[in-house]
Amino acid sequence: MYSKPKSAYVHIPFCTQICYYCDFSKVFIQNQPVDAYLEALIKEFNDYYQIKELRTLYIGGGTPTAISAEQLDYLLSNLSKNLNLDMLEEFTIEANPGDLTPDKIAVLEKSAVNRVSLGVQTFNDKHLKQIGRGHNEAQIYESIDSLKQAGFNNISIDLIYALPNQTMADVRENVAKALALDIPHLSLYSLILEHHTVFMNKMRRGRLHLPTEDLEAEMFEYIIKELENNGFEHYEISNFTKPGFESRHNLMYWDNVEYFGCGAGASGYLGGVRYRNRGPIQHYLKAIKESGHARFQEEKLSQSEKMEEELFLGLRKKSGVSIKNFEEKFGLPLQEVYGSALHDLEASGLVVMDEDRLRMTKKGLFLGDTVAEKFILE
Ligand code: SF4
Repeated sequence: MYSKPKSAYVHIPFCTQICYYCDFSKVFIQNQPVDAYLEALIKEFNDYYQIKELRTLYIGGGTPTAISAEQLDYLLSNLSKNLNLDMLEEFTIEANPGDLTPDKIAVLEKSAVNRVSLGVQTFNDKHLKQIGRGHNEAQIYESIDSLKQAGFNNISIDLIYALPNQTMADVRENVAKALALDIPHLSLYSLILEHHTVFMNKMRRGRLHLPTEDLEAEMFEYIIKELENNGFEHYEISNFTKPGFESRHNLMYWDNVEYFGCGAGASGYLGGVRYRNRGPIQHYLKAIKESGHARFQEEKLSQSEKMEEELFLGLRKKSGVSIKNFEEKFGLPLQEVYGSALHDLEASGLVVMDEDRLRMTKKGLFLGDTVAEKFILE
C-alpha cells in the first residue's frame, strides 16, 4: 500500500511536569493509563506490517523517560522485537535529565537505542525554574556522565535561547557549558510563544519580559559563530553537529520523505497523505481497539503542496535542495516551477544556486519565513 518508508516516529505523551512554554501533545503522567497506552502503541506499530526494515526510529514526547523502568523496557523491547536490527542505523530516544534514574539507564543500555536526545534547555537553575522545567544543572551533568558510562557516545542536547530575562552573557555561558559536555550534537531553538501556554498568558498580562528581536538575532549569530569555531557544522537552521553525527531521522523530515507516525497526537506521512492521530489518550485507546489505527486528520497532498514542502523543508538544511532530485521527483524542472521566485530571492541575496543545489545564504537563514513564503504556489 505504501512506498515502504524507512523511518518511524513513536510518541509518548506523558510528562512529569508541564513546562510553561510547551504546546506539544502531552499530559501530566499521574493517574494516566500508561500500561494500556503502551500496549495500544505496540499494537498500532505492529499493525503497520511494513515496519520491519527501518533505517531510523525516534521516540519523542512528551517525555519518553517519564514512564517507569519496567514500562520503558516493555516499550523498547517490543518496538525492536520484529525489526531487522542490522538495518536500523539510528534509534533515538528523547529524555529529560531529571528522569534518567540508574534503572532506566540500565534499560537503555541493554536496548537497541543508540542515540539519546536530552532536553536540557538551559544550564541556569534560575531560568530552569522560570520556564517550569523539573531538573537542575547538576542533574544535567549526572545524566550525561551516566549515559557516557553506559556506552552512549551519540548524545544530543536541546537548548532554548531568547528566554525571558535572558541576556547575551547568559547565552555565552550556556554555549560554553554545552561545549564542555563534549558531545557531538546540539539543537538550539529560540523560544516561540505558543497559544494556550502559561507563557502566552503571562505575555498577555504584560508579565513576560522577552529579549528584543535584535538581541535574539545577536544571540543566534553568536551561537553559530561560537559553535562553528569549536568544530560543529551548522547543518540545519537549529542543528549543529560534529562530523558524522547529524540526526539521520530529522534529516529524513527535511528531505521530505514519508514515515510512519505512531501514538496519541503523532503525525505521519504515508502514501502521499499527511495524517495526525487522535490526541486525547482515551480517544486514541478507543480508536486502536476498534480499528487498529488512530488516524483522523488525513490530508492528501497535491503536487503543488508537495513541491512547496520540498523547498520549505529542504532549505532548512545547509546542503539545501538538489535541483536534479526535484526534477526527478516531480517531473518538472525547478526553474520552470519557481523561476521568478528564485530570481527575486537570488537578487535579494537570500538564496544561492549552483549546478546542482539551491541553498539559503546566511542572510536567508535569519529570514527563513520570508524565503519560505516565496515558494507558495497559487
Ligand atoms: S517541553 Fe517536553 S517536558 Fe516540558 S511539558 Fe513539553 S513535552 Fe513535557
